Amino acid sequence: MKWRIWLLTFCIVLVSLLTFAVSSTYIYYNSSINDSKKYLRVYMNEFDQDRYTLDDIGAKEFSKKLDDARVTFITIDGEVMADSLYDKKDLPNHLDRDEVKKALDTGEGFKVRKSKTLSKNMIYYCRNYSNKFLIRISIFTSSQWAIFVSILPTFLIFAVIVIALCILIAALSTHFIIKPVTKLASEAISNDKVKSDYKELEPVANILNERSDNINRQMAEIQKEKEMIVAARNSKDEFIANVTHEMNTPLTSIYGYAELLNANILNDEQKEIAYTTIQKQSDRLAKLISCIINYSEIESDDLPPYEVDFSSIARESLIALKPEIDKRHIEVITDISDNVILTSRTERLDQVFGNLVRNAIKYNKDNGKIYITLSREHLIVEDTGIGIADENKDKIFSRFFTVDKSHSGKNGGFGLGLAVVKKICQKSNWTIKVESKLGVGTRFTITF
Ligand code: ADP
Repeated sequence: MKWRIWLLTFCIVLVSLLTFAVSSTYIYYNSSINDSKKYLRVYMNEFDQDRYTLDDIGAKEFSKKLDDARVTFITIDGEVMADSLYDKKDLPNHLDRDEVKKALDTGEGFKVRKSKTLSKNMIYYCRNYSNKFLIRISIFTSSQWAIFVSILPTFLIFAVIVIALCILIAALSTHFIIKPVTKLASEAISNDKVKSDYKELEPVANILNERSDNINRQMAEIQKEKEMIVAARNSKDEFIANVTHEMNTPLTSIYGYAELLNANILNDEQKEIAYTTIQKQSDRLAKLISCIINYSEIESDDLPPYEVDFSSIARESLIALKPEIDKRHIEVITDISDNVILTSRTERLDQVFGNLVRNAIKYNKDNGKIYITLSREHLIVEDTGIGIADENKDKIFSRFFTVDKSHSGKNGGFGLGLAVVKKICQKSNWTIKVESKLGVGTRFTITF
């Protein structure tokens, strides 16, 4: 950065100096030519025909008068009559000289060029005297290059001073320019938000703040994802532990009785008990596996929803549950509206309704009642059963939670029914609410 500023300043100053040198050379050269032209006119006015003869003597005398300027007398045909510096015999016809041509055309002519005879840069002024003869006066003049060379030492001194100044400016400017940037950068490392006192650095500060916000946001998202992964892993571990636990009891029972049967040490009555227990526990195991498979299917179900008539599903489900209802002498009072169309899937609605009503039967008292209301807004399943204690109302939706293990065993439940219902409600953005009083009854309300 420091070097860049230095190099930039140096280049700018060097280009400026060179431009200045070239342009001043040009201006100085032009002004000196104009001055010379004025002098030459004044010189020419000094010519007096009566005083100077048009021969070598006249040319030399007139030259002396003009501070040794070269004087050439030329005929109208371009022949040199006399020259203050050279023998006329050595000089060629001058008709091809530009200043002579112009003088013949317009009365006078100027020309700046390198003298063919003297090989030096000269300015020529030629005047036509009534088309009788021409007088040409010439003086030395510096070429542009010579002027440039003459100012070169001054230019070099300036260049050296400028380089020194550039180093100084670079040091100062880097100090003043880079310091706020460095300050901003160090603030950005230690703080979340940065602010610059310099208006020019505000866009940089804004970008840094925006980046910092993005990073914080992404970090929060990553943290959230991490927590979700950990939660999912814990939930999976817990699920596996629960499954293993649930399977353990029937398996141990089956294994134990199978071993006793194999050892042939049981009497007939004991054998009968062993066979019945093995059969019962095998049924329970099969039921448990089917419940787990069902739960997993619901949990990972990403199938697209479609419009389903919940009213028909509810009615069909009640017909299917009639034997269980009758077995316990339960009275079912229904208020099912027609055409309750929901965006879901048949199997999901079947599970929701079936699980709630089956629980209302299972956890009811004999000769109890079940009230079922289905409308476009909600589904209410209310029973007059055993009820749920307040401390268990939240837990009943957790997987494998059963209020009373021995009770659930009797009823064959594994604590997955309400977890399935809750999962389906979550997927459809429905809310599920439970109200209950121990010994009085329970009411589940799903609001669509
Ligand atoms: P389960 O297969 O054990 O019925 P659920 O997930 O359906 O599993 O229910 C979890 C627990 O909630 C049940 O074990 C039971 O104790 C309690 N429960 C569910 N519904 C009712 C109800 N209508 N009345 C009383 N208790 C209920």
